[in-house]
Amino acid sequence: MSQHIQLDIAIIGGGIAGLWLINRLQNAGYQCALFEAHALGGDQSVASQGMIHGGIKYTLSGTLTGASEAIADMPAHWQDCLAGCGDVDLRGANVLSDHFYMWSSASVTSKLTTFFASKATRGRVDKVKAQDRPPIFQHRDFKGQLYKLVDIVLDVPSVLQTLASNVEGRVYQLPKQQAHWTKDDQNTCQLTVKTDQGEVNIRARQFIFTAGQGNAELLQQLGESSPEMQIRPLQQVMVKLNQPYGFYGHCLGTDKTPRLTISSHPCSDGSWVWYLGGSLAEKGVDQDPDTLIRQAHRELSNLMPWLDLSDAQWATLPVNRAEPKQQNMIRPDKAFIGQAEHCTNLSVAWPTKLTLAPNLATEALEQLQQRGIQPSDAKTDLSPLDLLPQATVAKSPWDLADFRPFPATGL
Ligand SMILES: Cc1cc2nc3c(=O)[nH]c(=O)nc-3n(C[C@H](O)[C@H](O)[C@H](O)COP(=O)(O)OP(=O)(O)OC[C@H]3O[C@@H](n4cnc5c(N)ncnc54)[C@H](O)[C@@H]3O)c2cc1C
Repeated sequence: MSQHIQLDIAIIGGGIAGLWLINRLQNAGYQCALFEAHALGGDQSVASQGMIHGGIKYTLSGTLTGASEAIADMPAHWQDCLAGCGDVDLRGANVLSDHFYMWSSASVTSKLTTFFASKATRGRVDKVKAQDRPPIFQHRDFKGQLYKLVDIVLDVPSVLQTLASNVEGRVYQLPKQQAHWTKDDQNTCQLTVKTDQGEVNIRARQFIFTAGQGNAELLQQLGESSPEMQIRPLQQVMVKLNQPYGFYGHCLGTDKTPRLTISSHPCSDGSWVWYLGGSLAEKGVDQDPDTLIRQAHRELSNLMPWLDLSDAQWATLPVNRAEPKQQNMIRPDKAFIGQAEHCTNLSVAWPTKLTLAPNLATEALEQLQQRGIQPSDAKTDLSPLDLLPQATVAKSPWDLADFRPFPATGL
């Protein structure tokens, strides 16, 4: 027998976007639930570098940009949430670092030096004096310049866990094959959950897709083609080093994007991994893993020749960034949420950055207000959904990877 439930808002996809949004919706009094196909944050969020950045990495051309300004307030916003006085309670989340470094291997262009010293970037970037350098840059062979950014780095699995715990009982695991989408002749979509234990028909005043790269397939199931999505692939490198430094920093190169971005993350076996992104990961997309590992080894040996890489263990991770489609595949500056063309109760969202998940939720709430969708007075009985398990947080890529020694040939 089929059961029915009526929600104010049903969210599909439980990465940072969906989980942040359901926190805001619950706080605002909406009757809401989230449905995750696999594990929370499984595609991008747990694979991210966890940087909550204030946009300085988008100013490497020596000027403020739309992207640098759209994101400038975000570290402070997240700090409030971490302290328990923001729009979402993140007190259970772990901070990996309260700063991010930016360094150059030689001297930074004079335009950039002047820019970083200017009023435009005041409070967002500081030059680090030699005596204040972290241990990794105290080596006598370091000749470049070092800056400190206000950006923070979070342990993303702990962020996702905290967000899920705040809305306990509302975050379901719903495998794709048990989710059946239909659209009626009023152009209203609905979701039917079909399991061996029974069927539940879910109606919602608004469905919001926050399924990352899964959004396109979901739209397709409903015969929708917009909002359109773009995929920008990366191949990250993971390296377990036998050295004592956790490190978070961008290396400046000649491009307008960082040459190498390094973040450090705890593994479940007690070890730490250095996670390498930036241009290395963008340009390495089509390389076979061994070639990319050799390239990463070359980069680290050039940029930090004092690092001992002899016992390092290596792995790579191909991963996609999913975003709203832009002209010429450029990186979007802002979070996006837009209405589906032919479904009256469906919108689709991509945060485009972990950092911008709070903006996405604020924008989603504003759109609900504009469309007259207020929290219902009547409480929704969620017990028909007891046939679904609660979703859990995805494992980190470094806990799933097959680490191996440096490839034997090609050095
Ligand atoms: C390597 C890498 C590093 C990054 N580093 C940073 C960084 O340091 N700072 C930063 O701000 N941003 C960073 N980003 C960007 C950031 O990670 C993403 O913008 C953000 O995590 C996207 O969140 P999301 O919730 O939209 O998607 P996801 O985290 O991908 O979550 C989508 C969820 O939807 C689920 N799903 C998919 N299909 C379905 C379906 N049919 N039904 C139900 N659920 C479904 C998936 O299982 C997944 O759990 C990085 C991205 C990458 C790839």
